[in-house]
Amino acid sequence: MSNKVSNITIVGGGTAGWMTASYLNKVFGQNVDITLVESPNISTVGVGEATFSTIKLFFDFLELEEHDWMPHCNGSYKMAIKFVDWNAEKKHFYHPFQRYEIVDGFHIGEWWLKHKDQLDAFDYSSFMVSALCDNKRAPRFLDGRVFDTKVQDLFTPDRAFKKNMLADLKIQYPYAYHFNAALLANFLRELAIGKGVRHIADDVVGVSQAENGFISGITTKEHGEIEGDLFIDCTGFKGMLINKVLNEQFIPFAESLLCDTALAMQVPRDIEKDGMNPFTSATALSSGWVWNIPLYGRDGTGYVFSSAFITPEEAEKEFRKHVGKASDNCNASLIKMRIGRNHNAWVKNCVAIGLANAFVEPLESTGIFFIQQGIEELVANFPDKQCSPELQKRYNKTIGECIDGVRDFLTLHYCASSRYDTPFWKATKHDLKLSDDLKERQAEWKVRLPNPRNINPNYHGFESYSYAVMLQGLGYSPENCLPVLQHMDSTRALEAFRRIRERTNELIRTLPSQYEYLTSVRVGQ
Ligand code: FAD
Repeated sequence: MSNKVSNITIVGGGTAGWMTASYLNKVFGQNVDITLVESPNISTVGVGEATFSTIKLFFDFLELEEHDWMPHCNGSYKMAIKFVDWNAEKKHFYHPFQRYEIVDGFHIGEWWLKHKDQLDAFDYSSFMVSALCDNKRAPRFLDGRVFDTKVQDLFTPDRAFKKNMLADLKIQYPYAYHFNAALLANFLRELAIGKGVRHIADDVVGVSQAENGFISGITTKEHGEIEGDLFIDCTGFKGMLINKVLNEQFIPFAESLLCDTALAMQVPRDIEKDGMNPFTSATALSSGWVWNIPLYGRDGTGYVFSSAFITPEEAEKEFRKHVGKASDNCNASLIKMRIGRNHNAWVKNCVAIGLANAFVEPLESTGIFFIQQGIEELVANFPDKQCSPELQKRYNKTIGECIDGVRDFLTLHYCASSRYDTPFWKATKHDLKLSDDLKERQAEWKVRLPNPRNINPNYHGFESYSYAVMLQGLGYSPENCLPVLQHMDSTRALEAFRRIRERTNELIRTLPSQYEYLTSVRVGQ
């Protein structure tokens, strides 16, 4: 009998389930049978509409061009996150998908500290993206070219097979996407079914295990028993297979991330009149923060808060006041978030992907990134029927380090912020448990900005420029520039700042607005 895995059963049909089904189908084709079972009675979480720039690789791998999927999912572009009211001065700043330039061996953020009195705010001086966002530009010209010439030829579907591991990515793609989560799940469902994935709409009501504890099959209400060699748990926060059946321990992150609840709402928007912001915004409120995700046709918005500091009723009042008249007649749905991760994402012959494995709250939009990384690493460590403990160990270590790295990065958003005006924001200064590693690094970042050598070296999606940008914006930044820069000639650095300014102005003049670009893609179909 062959030892090869020939049957994969995925339980759950949210973003995690369908991303996994379509990706694995692309990898294995007809060699492996894939079945996805999703309940017609239990709804998906229904949020998760902003992404990370690495998502481009996922679509490239499926050989999908933007015009193939974006119009079907009301997709839009995200070039940055705009942080509003996260510092004591309540000054906004952008966290763009754009690295710092290096000048004479030092990144331009360090040079900005030397010349800040002569320059605009760090995010406007150092990146083109901030002003492009203010002006609601698209990241592509009407003929389809990306504004960042470095990436034009590097990210195309035919190149994806040559470099499909996120951790090996040597270049930053300059944008991510927003999309309607339900429409994306529908789109991927149709795609996967069309390529041969078996789809069963039914409730899983039981699970059978072999003597060694491996899952041997799941029992559905109407379709009987479904077997599998490998099971993927995509059942959302309940972790039906990984936690309920295999009893894997869940490690909560409550000590370092206080927000545990969200109110989510879909708000209509007249995009023809208002245009479309090419960024996600994150606006700090009294006990958490509000996301705003502009899609083609509506905005997705939600208040992420800590239930220890505000009741859901008070939060809804504050949230509606923030959104204003647009929230009239819109329902707000309350979502309890399970924040933390499984000790192991892969146990016996079951791998948990998506909310069933981990979630660290929506700040910086990492939920779908974790899904993408979970799938990729599964392919990289793909087992035979015995599920080698060594492959599992490597997988679990890589996944755990990535999530913990993101947890620490998000914790920094709160503890490094200079906001101190409400009980919640005070608690973020006194009550958070920081890892020793993070504490040590924070001390260094008070005297020099983060760089590739002094951030967490484990792959977790965020690069040193992201740390530097966030710390500067949050108000946790060195007072002075690095002493060595005082001895160095600034001509080339000032020239770099001038070039960025000139190129930004040129792009503002020549790029279409995001509304104009996306509409032209639809009309062209
Ligand atoms: P779900 O969407 O919950 O799907 C679970 C599936 O399991 C459903 O199909 C359900 O029917 C099925 N199921 C459950 N039980 C059974 C059963 N017994 N039998 C059969 N089927 C069953 N991520 C981002 O990247 N960006 C964001 O901006 C972002 N914002 C978020 C905001 C909030 C408030 C929350 C809570 C999450 C956010 N996320 C975000 C995370 C993102 O939403 C999820 O990672 C993503 O939607 C994947 O969810 P899922 O598929 O794991 O779970």
